[in-house]
Amino acid sequence: MARRSIIAANWKMNGDLTLVNTMVNALSEVDFQNNVNVVICPSSPYLSALVAKTKEQKLGPTFAVGAQNVSEHENGAYTGEISTKMLQELSVEFVIIGHSERRSYFKESSTQIAHKVSVALNAGLTPILCIGESELERATEQTETVLASQLQPVIDEVGIEKFVDVVIAYEPVWAIGTGKTASSEMAQETHQFIRQFIAQADENVADKVPLLYGGSVNASNCEELFAQADIDGGLIGGASLKAEQFKVICLAAKGK
Ligand code: PEP
Repeated sequence: MARRSIIAANWKMNGDLTLVNTMVNALSEVDFQNNVNVVICPSSPYLSALVAKTKEQKLGPTFAVGAQNVSEHENGAYTGEISTKMLQELSVEFVIIGHSERRSYFKESSTQIAHKVSVALNAGLTPILCIGESELERATEQTETVLASQLQPVIDEVGIEKFVDVVIAYEPVWAIGTGKTASSEMAQETHQFIRQFIAQADENVADKVPLLYGGSVNASNCEELFAQADIDGGLIGGASLKAEQFKVICLAAKGK
């Protein structure tokens, strides 16, 4: 089964209009392979500018714009929230859901995250569902239990067959923004566990679902990580703010 590679940039609460222009200009110089998708997820005030700039530079179907969050509510009195319909109207195609920073700082529960994945899918957006264990959970050998407890509520809510339209990002919390990357062996072993967990529900879906690794990926470690059998790309934080470094990471993605 051929799986596409996805490299997604999570700018978090960083970046500005200059970065929107610099990044799109830099990426427009690169000839990417057909089976690679590059998704840039800026802060929401920059979504429109990014969509406009990708159209102006004719970046084509390799590229897509993603949001960093979405509300589980359709509309109404939810000050500060953004709906799926608003994202659709801006031609946003992907949305990061359940990032560990949302789970920990904004207290998003697995149930709420499952609702978000559901509304995103219903709106035709591709969710990038983030899961991952803390340092203590890894040290106490709870990684697989934690990952299963983050995946199962989403499977229960949306149904396993819908997972063909979901991207899963495995991000060990201890590796995010810390410079500590999981070794390629450890990352592969955990990705394999995730694929097998999905396979218990549906083998065909497990073959198709792209699994991304996230956590201090950079231009030096990306090649080895992306070469692993079950790693189909990356969710990139810090290194996605530097156009030249991000280009190198995108070029290391080859599809499986
Ligand atoms: C992230 O926030 O999703 C992430 C992976 O960050 P970093 O690459 O900076 O560790």
